Formats: sequence, structure tokens, C-alpha cells
Amino acid sequence: MEMLDHLGIIYSENNIDTFPCIIASTKSQLVGKNVIIADEIIPLDDTLNMLSGNLYEAGDSLNLEINEHEKKILDSIRSAFHDVGLPLVRKWFWPNFAKACCILTHDIDWLTYSPFHRIVLRSNSITKTLILIFRYLLTGIDYGYNIPEILEIETNRKVKSTFFFMTDYQKDNAKGRDAERLVKGSGCEIGLHGSRGSHRDITILRAELERLQRSTGVMAEGVRYHRLKFQTPLTWSVTSDACLNYDTTYSDHYFGFKVPLCFPFHPINRTEYNRYNVIEIPTAFMDWIALNRKYKEDHCKDILNRIMTVVEQHNGCFAINFHNTYLNADTFHEMYNTYIWMLDNLASRGYWITSAINCCSWWMTRFTAKLNIELRDQKVIGNSSIKDIPVVIEKASGENIFLNIP
Ligand SMILES: [Zn+2]
Repeated sequence: MEMLDHLGIIYSENNIDTFPCIIASTKSQLVGKNVIIADEIIPLDDTLNMLSGNLYEAGDSLNLEINEHEKKILDSIRSAFHDVGLPLVRKWFWPNFAKACCILTHDIDWLTYSPFHRIVLRSNSITKTLILIFRYLLTGIDYGYNIPEILEIETNRKVKSTFFFMTDYQKDNAKGRDAERLVKGSGCEIGLHGSRGSHRDITILRAELERLQRSTGVMAEGVRYHRLKFQTPLTWSVTSDACLNYDTTYSDHYFGFKVPLCFPFHPINRTEYNRYNVIEIPTAFMDWIALNRKYKEDHCKDILNRIMTVVEQHNGCFAINFHNTYLNADTFHEMYNTYIWMLDNLASRGYWITSAINCCSWWMTRFTAKLNIELRDQKVIGNSSIKDIPVVIEKASGENIFLNIP
């Protein structure tokens, strides 16, 4: 079901005789011309293991094996419909028929930053570093806050992002409250940047959520844990139990996809044979990894280009994480340029650029939208429980029609 949901397939677990096509497993022992046995087409057990975090190889990866498996299932379903003279109608992936989706996020680890940080020294020439230090000592300039500038850049481009805030910035707590007010006022999302062991302890997680709510007035709907701390599958369990809608931590310190899938997904709980309530949003690029590896601007752009190319092949989505600290044109001009380039590139390539919660809410709305569709006089007519759900009608002739179901 998880895979059918990703593909936007309209299905039911009841009245299966009324459907043109039935998807089952070998265990069901169902036979018939219209029966598709999923585990004869794809390695179902391995796929479930990957979705549960049990099958994982460390390293940068643009492998999207689960998307490839889903494509095979989709091809079989489409053929089954076309064989009986029906078009296949399924929900499109993103609002307004966007080609793909990019989730824009910022982890807020620091609210002040001096040029004495190791990563600043490593990212600049000696002359440039001396100038940065001189200005810092002379004027007390802070190179790390950058949040008003980020909001201005994104507002000018009419995009919303997610800022993951911690609950304690020690001497900078007043500055933290100012930043939260600015982000909230801009309409961007405030999420929790969980720390202090909240990724494995629901009591700590709940305390952090309450503390963030007290200071911001909003209950966070999602989390990214600081330093990408994650215990599989405990963190999904804790995050689900805290009633958070999404997590976007499960990515490790590599580029690409830890689970070979470029869609938001419900992780599979293989112990209880169900899906966790929380949605995992795949983060495929984090600035710190590039800085730590001393990658130049061109190298970062190349990685992002390659990620976008594979994601577009599946009309998928991925999250990017640019820390406020590194979006400074003085201290990290190559990363700053990469971020600006990325925003403009995504827009020109037809991406829906949005916050994590906007993506997550859309994905859930799309899952739950009930469509009543019928073919009358060779025309698809119908209605939707949720207004203007985008669908694609795939005809046997190869023609595709895109329309919103009212
Ligand atoms: Zn962090």
C-alpha cells in the first residue's frame, strides 16, 4: 500500500472484484488474468527491509532502487487497465502539476559565529581570513546570524522554508527569540532541532517540544535531530509516539538517498508489520558535508545537479539543508553562491520549493483524497473529496491528460 500511495494509485482493500486489476502476493494464492503478483515483479522483502532501515550501505548514493521497483508495479497496473480498454487515472505527485519537489530547510545550530571557527579557516585563503578576523576584532561583526537575510532572499523568490530551532542557545537565547519571531512572521515553518538525546527518549523529546512551544507559540510538527542523531528504528518509534508528523534526519553524513527512494515515506515497522505514523522526508544534501570535505562551489553544484536529474526522472522530492551559519557571503561565499544558484535553478526546472510541513501535509492530503471516477462516453468524469486534486489520465494510445478533479 505504501508503494501504491507513492504512485497515486486509487485502490481499495474491499470489493476487489469490482476493480479492473488486483495486486496480491504469492501467499494470497490468487490467480487470474487481472491479478498482479507483486513479489514476482519486484523483490518485495528486500524493499520492505529498505523501507524499515534494515538494508543500508553507507556512502554517497543516487541509487533509487525503490523508485525503480515502483515503476515496474506501475507499468503492470497500467498494462492491466489498457488491456481491458480502460485509461489509468492516478493522482499526480505535486500541486499544480509541478515536476518535482524540493524541501528547503535550515538547521539553526548557532546564532553567532566568529572567524576563528575551524571551518571558516579551512574555507578561506590566509589573506581573506585575516581580513575577516580584522573586521571581527574591530567592529564585533557577527558572521553567523544571517536569518533576516535568508528570509529576505526567500521572500523575494516567494518560497517558504523550514527553520529547525534548538531549545537552548545559552547566552544567545534572547537572539533566538528574535529569530523565532522573524521566522514566524514570515510564514516560514518552525520545526524542532532536537538535541540532548531526544532522538531516543520520548520524555526529553516532549520536554523540548513544550519548551519550543512556550517560546514560539507554535507546536512544532516535525523534527530534524542535531548532528543527524538517529537510532533505527527507535527514533521513528519515539518520533511517532510524540505525534510529530515528520522526521527529516534519516540521511547520515553522505549525499543522496539513504533509503533508495525520492518520496516522503512511512517507515515500515517490521516487528509489528505496520507503518509508523511519522513520515520520513529524505534529506539529500547538507552544506556541512561539502564544507567538511572541502568541496568547492562547482563541486557542490555538480552534486545538486545530479540529485535533481535523478529526482526529476521519478517526479520525486528531496530536502536540502543550508545552515544559517554558512549562508554568509563573507565567510562562506562559495556556499552562499551555491544556495542562491540552487534556488534559481529549482524554480527554472519546475520544482515546487516548499517547507517540510507543506510537503508533508500535501502528501497526506493526496493519500486521503477519495476520488469517484468513471468513464462515460470515452470521457473520464468524477469528483474528489478534496478540491482540485491533480490527476493524470494515461490512455492506451500513449496520450496523457492532466487535469484537476473538482
Ligand atoms: Zn544541528
